Amino acid sequence: MSRRIQHLAAILAGLALWSVAGAASAAITCATPGALGTSRVLRIPTQGGAEYGTFRYGPLPLKAKEVVLTFDDGPVAATTPKILAALKSQCVRATFFMIGKRVDADPALARQVQADGHVIGSHSWAHVPMSTLSPADQIADFDRGLASNQQATGKPTRLYRFPEFKHTPELLAYAERKNIAVIAADISSEDWRGQAAEVTLARVLERLDARGSGIILFHDNQAHTVEVIPRFLEALKARGYKVVQLAPAL
Ligand SMILES: [Zn+2]
Repeated sequence: MSRRIQHLAAILAGLALWSVAGAASAAITCATPGALGTSRVLRIPTQGGAEYGTFRYGPLPLKAKEVVLTFDDGPVAATTPKILAALKSQCVRATFFMIGKRVDADPALARQVQADGHVIGSHSWAHVPMSTLSPADQIADFDRGLASNQQATGKPTRLYRFPEFKHTPELLAYAERKNIAVIAADISSEDWRGQAAEVTLARVLERLDARGSGIILFHDNQAHTVEVIPRFLEALKARGYKVVQLAPAL
């Protein structure tokens, strides 16, 4: 090996060490022995927009056995705090796509979600399919949803999920102009069906095992989901999955 190549190799080794240290520092510290934990934070660039989630777009850069937990349709006082407690007990950090009008109704609960270390995205303000609105009304709803989050949490929102994942070309282009990443999902728990917890649990685990990784969709406004989440987190741990928190780049 020439001296020059040796030098290059040393630089590359240093970079590798640096990136490992960077990944380690991104891990969430957890004081609970044996908890599932959060293995890393995946920060995605939002400049010029981005779209992820194979229900509509391309996949996130996840490794095998990595899962991103997402919760839609909150915050709701009857259920969201119980989901938060389950996540906290396992030191798991998730991403919550909130409905703006529900944030307006309970901004303190939105702040609690943020205070627990979760990322808050927008799931529109009114939660109606965007295709039913005029382009101007779509943009008004989009901006209103972001404003509700900002007002409640004091932070800008950089992630957006369309109601029912049904995007429109107009609003997708607008999100790109506003530097907002649009997030769909890879695996649906279909917890909105309101079935018994074991039915939802079996379905989501079967889909996850078949795919091996991905963005999973739950709803924190569903009573049965409160029962599902503690058991789901235990199952993730038993099956060797790692939780990755999805966040916008700083
Ligand atoms: Zn929804």
